[in-house]
Amino acid sequence: MSQAPTAALLAWYDRCGRDLPWRRTTDPYAILVSEVMLQQTQVARVAGRYEAWLERWPTAAALAAAPLADVLGAWVGLGYNRRALRLREACAIVARDGWPDDLSRLPGVGPYTAAAVGAFAFGRDEVAMDTNLRRVLARTGGALRPSPGRFGAFNHAVMDLGATVCTARRPRCQPCPLRPWCPSRDAVEVLPARPPGGGGRVRIPFEDTDRHARGRVVAAFMVGLDDEVILIASGGVVIRVPVRGITSQGRDATGVRVMALSEGQSVAAVAPALSTD
Ligand code: SF4
Repeated sequence: MSQAPTAALLAWYDRCGRDLPWRRTTDPYAILVSEVMLQQTQVARVAGRYEAWLERWPTAAALAAAPLADVLGAWVGLGYNRRALRLREACAIVARDGWPDDLSRLPGVGPYTAAAVGAFAFGRDEVAMDTNLRRVLARTGGALRPSPGRFGAFNHAVMDLGATVCTARRPRCQPCPLRPWCPSRDAVEVLPARPPGGGGRVRIPFEDTDRHARGRVVAAFMVGLDDEVILIASGGVVIRVPVRGITSQGRDATGVRVMALSEGQSVAAVAPALSTD
């Protein structure tokens, strides 16, 4: 198998790869933080939050020692609070025992995240198989082969190609660096772009989603604000939560939708939506 396609891809990555803050380090803790944040949150949303997080908790030991309320509060807006809890648990293990050989034994670390941390931080020859990688490798039909010792760059390069050139709906085969070798060039069905503002799914701003509302409520609970007590259901259990600044029904002081109940109201209808994730 020729190495020419892989060499062309890596040369393209050197020229056009995305400059993301977690690509400037080999610190396994920093890379784990970025990978956990990226599990279900967009790159643009993660970028600023990642650097603030590392400034506040620069090591696994620092995060492990942080109050849970602070950690959950700093996670607000990233969604799925459970990821922050598992990350802190993983850091407690690392602070106590060091990094395990099998990274997937850490809480919240699945096969993809383990491979990503292994390749990017520890220089292991592992392919971090995300959606972009899977799509590009399928379309290129085995043309790409990472070289030993270069799996980190290979993973980044294929991810970026999948995110910016060989996209799911509209692959741009003309400028693609893999065009000379790709059996799918000009043959992938181009799907129409989603119509702006009409047809298809209605796009709801993240700040108006249940995920964000849950995060706000959980964070308010964890930091112990103490003005007003309302009843909410968390994990299906009714608890008393002091929340400051509920100014109108369904909105907190910053205008973010918060699902909350006054004392005495039925919680049955909102219990599932308020369960912590
Ligand atoms: S030539 Fe087209 S289908 Fe093949 S990898 Fe490039 S963008 Fe994807």
